[in-house]
Amino acid sequence: MIFQSPFRGGASVPHRKQTAERATTVMPVPPKVIIPLLQHTGVICDPKVQKGDFVKVGQILGDSEKLMAVPIHSSVSGKVTNVDLMLWAGGIQVTSVEIETDGKQELAPGLVPPVVRSKEDFLAAVRASGLVGLGGAGFPTHVKLAPPAGKTIDTLIINAAECEPYITSDYREILENTESIVAGVQAVATHLGLSRILIGIEDNKPKAVEVLKKAFSGDPKVRVLPLRTRYPQGAEKMLIWATARRAVGVGKLPSDVGVIVLNVTTASFLGKYLKTGLPLIKKRVTVAGGCVKEPQNLEVLIGTPLADVFNFAGGFVEEPRKVIMGGPMMGVAQHSLETSVVKHTNALLVLPASEGQSPAASACIRCGRCLTACPMGLAPLMLNRSALNNDAEILERYEVMACIECGSCAFVCPSKIQLVQGIRLGKTQVRLAEAKKKAQAAQPTTGARA
Ligand code: SF4
Ligand code: SF4
Repeated sequence: MIFQSPFRGGASVPHRKQTAERATTVMPVPPKVIIPLLQHTGVICDPKVQKGDFVKVGQILGDSEKLMAVPIHSSVSGKVTNVDLMLWAGGIQVTSVEIETDGKQELAPGLVPPVVRSKEDFLAAVRASGLVGLGGAGFPTHVKLAPPAGKTIDTLIINAAECEPYITSDYREILENTESIVAGVQAVATHLGLSRILIGIEDNKPKAVEVLKKAFSGDPKVRVLPLRTRYPQGAEKMLIWATARRAVGVGKLPSDVGVIVLNVTTASFLGKYLKTGLPLIKKRVTVAGGCVKEPQNLEVLIGTPLADVFNFAGGFVEEPRKVIMGGPMMGVAQHSLETSVVKHTNALLVLPASEGQSPAASACIRCGRCLTACPMGLAPLMLNRSALNNDAEILERYEVMACIECGSCAFVCPSKIQLVQGIRLGKTQVRLAEAKKKAQAAQPTTGARA
């Protein structure tokens, strides 16, 4: 069965998934890795090693006692040559550990499968594995699996939509590691006591749909749901509606409607970790785009510099116009090939001018297409204008913070107006206005009677 109306709005984006049918290649150990101590949504980890230390694969390099953090492990064995601020894929400087590899890939002692006898053991193991959302979000998985008290979860949704153009890393995970996906899904369902599991996958991946249906055919709790292909199907709120027909309101979370959403590669990693005890140290990355000589999926050690990844993929066949970590709709443009692959890197795209150049914007013709395309029901044109006017009040009134930055509005705009850039600016203006209000409220009132 195909769900015909996945969600309101969205866009029909080109698929460009030419790497889909090529098996993943394991990339060799690079001469050095740069491992940032922030690879998740939340708080940066404190360094646990220093310059001159020798480290082994799976050894903890950084950790934090804060809730919104997960340990960062070494992906290699070798010598720590620097612990300092270094350029991070997000475009800012972040404390990172640089390691000169020795090529031996010696494992740290104590890497054994975790003993899990209770839900608490399970959540502790998930945290210890260093797992974050591997679909691109990087949200700490142990936090996602432990919603606040009072929220009743009855459904696990596995996100296998992979709706952005070019990216095929989840698709290859489904074909190459099906057993791990089954093990991961069953572990989450067992330890969280969930009896309904929905797997949402777009109908442009018929082979993967069949593989998943066969793998889960003996489990009545699991339903594999092929969804009509529509961007941004993989966004949490859209997927929850498409699969479970539950609407997550503005400012609300999936747990508010009784749902936890996990990316399919995240679930698969969990299956592997529970079996091996090897923490998150490598990632499958789709390397693609018109400039890449040999587009393919590579299994890359975390911390590998982008330059090494592209060299391994044969280098560039023409002058790159844009390098993106992630997909072309929601990915982050990279300004240096010295940044490195992090936990949630699912794609590296190198686009020539013909694919990556933003055409010059012209005046808005008030066609309303951006309104129709917005899956969140926002008014992108109004938000963009208000941001240009620095009008935080209007931005808040029109719920700028609800924008998921999917880029559907800009994609359909015939005038090629950079709506998402404007909306991001608007979000910053709202945050600044809120901070200013708080600071003013915290100031002691003058003229008060003694
Ligand atoms: S306003 Fe935000 S959520 Fe709506 S289409 Fe544009 S980027 Fe997507
Ligand atoms: S899609 Fe572009 S041209 Fe049309 S109303 Fe929106 S901003 Fe204006």
